Amino acid sequence: MLGKRLVVISNRLPIAVITEDGKKVLKPSSGGLVTALSPILDVEGGVWIGWPGTESSEEIQPLINEFNQTNPYKIHPIYLTEEQEEEFYLGFSNQTIWPLFHDLLGLTSFNSQQWETYDEVNRLFAKHVAAQILPDDFVWINDYQLLRVAYHLRDLGVNQPLGFFNHIPFPSPDMFRRLPWAQQIFDGMIHYDSLGFQTIRDRNNFVAISRQHLQGANYIKRRFYTNVEVEGRVVRVGNYPISIDYHEFNRGARQESVQVEMEAIQKAYTAEHLVLGLDRLDHTKGIPERFLAFEHLLEKHPELQGKVSLIQVVVPSRTALKSYADLKQELDSLTGRINSRFGQHGYVPIHFFFKHLNRNELIALYRSCEVALITPLRDGMNLVAKEYAASSIDQRNVLVLSMFTGSADQLGRSALLVNPYDLEGTADALHRAMHMDDSERRKRLRALRAQVKKNDVHRWVKQFVGSLPDAQLKE
Ligand code: UDP
Repeated sequence: MLGKRLVVISNRLPIAVITEDGKKVLKPSSGGLVTALSPILDVEGGVWIGWPGTESSEEIQPLINEFNQTNPYKIHPIYLTEEQEEEFYLGFSNQTIWPLFHDLLGLTSFNSQQWETYDEVNRLFAKHVAAQILPDDFVWINDYQLLRVAYHLRDLGVNQPLGFFNHIPFPSPDMFRRLPWAQQIFDGMIHYDSLGFQTIRDRNNFVAISRQHLQGANYIKRRFYTNVEVEGRVVRVGNYPISIDYHEFNRGARQESVQVEMEAIQKAYTAEHLVLGLDRLDHTKGIPERFLAFEHLLEKHPELQGKVSLIQVVVPSRTALKSYADLKQELDSLTGRINSRFGQHGYVPIHFFFKHLNRNELIALYRSCEVALITPLRDGMNLVAKEYAASSIDQRNVLVLSMFTGSADQLGRSALLVNPYDLEGTADALHRAMHMDDSERRKRLRALRAQVKKNDVHRWVKQFVGSLPDAQLKE
């Protein structure tokens, strides 16, 4: 264990405020970070600092107090005004950094008012963090909404080591310099002591950018990290791929309740082959391209019409932004067009669901679909690919995976890798997956599962925690 108190800072707290029977209640959320850090927080105690997703209200504080009295760790809320939510969160975070860091320059907006609010909210976070931390704490700040918190913490006189993990891709120098505030963002990041990225590519991009921005720095390259020595400080820049709790999915897949769900799925779909798509609604996920590749498959192999269906689940996300609402419409209309073109009595080519699935439904779908077609245009990691492998206990499933996901670095040799912009290549890989013989399926799946089992989320935490000076996890 850590032997220190852990202070986690992320844009969102690990709880959501929901209304039940007209009353507000706190519901714990179950994201990857929560799964990864809860075992440590439960044992060591600590604080999680972030936005509860709402404005300050008299109803919420008592709920937070109650949480803090009944849980091993505490949550500390930072309330944002409506304007801050609009400009910091929906604006600069999600319309500037998010698309730019995913190489989607055409969808990136540049707005100096939003930039100023972004920096103001980063300063607000720093003030709360400075007031909460003790000198010996392990301070771990997360993700692209908070790139400049360290800069403001140093300004407030905080000197202790600070760790930062970037969950999304980190762009090339050429893409990064499109940002009118590139210098300020870089200056923010270099004030951390440990910078964690998902892939070696992301890490190399940061180092290349730092060569452009820093004068007189020294670079010492090791296998898992590069030390940047500057003005008497060392910044460790490493790559640590995030993962899942393998056992949770592997065990979950064997539960009776999953079996029941699977039987319902078997009854509901008539097609011989089921292909799964599962994503949050996002431009980065390559869903329209996936639909077109699927259409191409049916066009090129008419014998598959009536025999293969794509089950596409899209989880609603950021629909307050017009471009996300437009994407949803595009998916509706592509589904309609392809289904009317190839549908027959008793056969629907694309089953499109716009909703969130619970864990049981999710695992049952993973087990039931013979192919997972995961084709983001760019993705920091993609946990769905790893969950699919861990849940596939029947030894027959095949993973088709975009080469532009972080997961491809670990799973690329055993999955069928595709370029999602190449519709024909993706359709060919799908065809190959459906016609793969049993022994090749088993061999690939065994290797996939062994990879995910070995490099699980607990290993990720150990690797990142070990990167900060004086921090070591004890067994
Ligand atoms: N997920 C879920 N219900 C759904 C669809 C997805 O709980 O209906 C979860 C899924 O299990 C995974 C996460 O959402 O853990 C998606 O993570 P990923 O890294 O694939 O993509 P992100 O949404 O973080 O970009």
